[in-house]
Amino acid sequence: MGKLFNELKQDLLYQHGMNACLNCGVCTAVCPAAEFSEYSPREVMNICQSEDDEQIEELLKSDKIWFCGQCFSCKTRCPRGNSTASVILALRRLSVLHGYFAESEKGRQQLFAKRVFGENVLKRGYTLLAENISPAHFSELGENWEYYYEHREEMREWWDVPMNLENSPGSHRVIPEKDMEELRAIYKATGAIELMDAVEKGMEKKLGSKKEVEKYWQNWVETADSRNYEIKENK
Ligand code: SF4
Ligand code: SF4
Repeated sequence: MGKLFNELKQDLLYQHGMNACLNCGVCTAVCPAAEFSEYSPREVMNICQSEDDEQIEELLKSDKIWFCGQCFSCKTRCPRGNSTASVILALRRLSVLHGYFAESEKGRQQLFAKRVFGENVLKRGYTLLAENISPAHFSELGENWEYYYEHREEMREWWDVPMNLENSPGSHRVIPEKDMEELRAIYKATGAIELMDAVEKGMEKKLGSKKEVEKYWQNWVETADSRNYEIKENK
């Protein structure tokens, strides 16, 4: 049993999710992510159960731990009452804290999760704002969304759910500062801020500098595809 596994097993989510896996594969059979990607919850459980640091590190550096959509179908069907979904959350936390996430394409997308969902919550109290869903990035939403996106403030006035007003009805209201302070305190106490900082640091280490992280970010904002940024190894 290695250091990494020891750290993993301290995580309450891991303790909650892993009893003993008999490798029956039911979780993989019902997993929607396994159907569409190179991913198997059974394999994840098997690697964790090996308690082998080398295999766990490889898993933490791979795309695999980022495919799970947290639907919990695996948990309800597991004959041993395991929850791969919870184990995955513990693995993701470890991957971010150690900077391993930056080794995979799906892992690096944590930068977007941090800068969009995470920072939105800390600034506004929402994970996603209408202004984040630009038609350039989400063309599949069609012309109606394009119209709404351009006229959202005006349209919400018509609907009587104005944006950016303190305690007005509906989403996009401004949450009072005292409530925001509570929210930020929860993020700090639960370690979420630490994780967000670890994402920035891990990306900086991988790409070589803060400047490169900004280039990576800009590239995604402009092209909507992070793969357009070429990673130069061994910087
Ligand atoms: S369903 Fe449960 S016991 Fe079967 S492989 Fe998945 S986690 Fe293991
Ligand atoms: S929670 Fe994740 S691992 Fe479990 S079935 Fe859903 S997508 Fe698959």
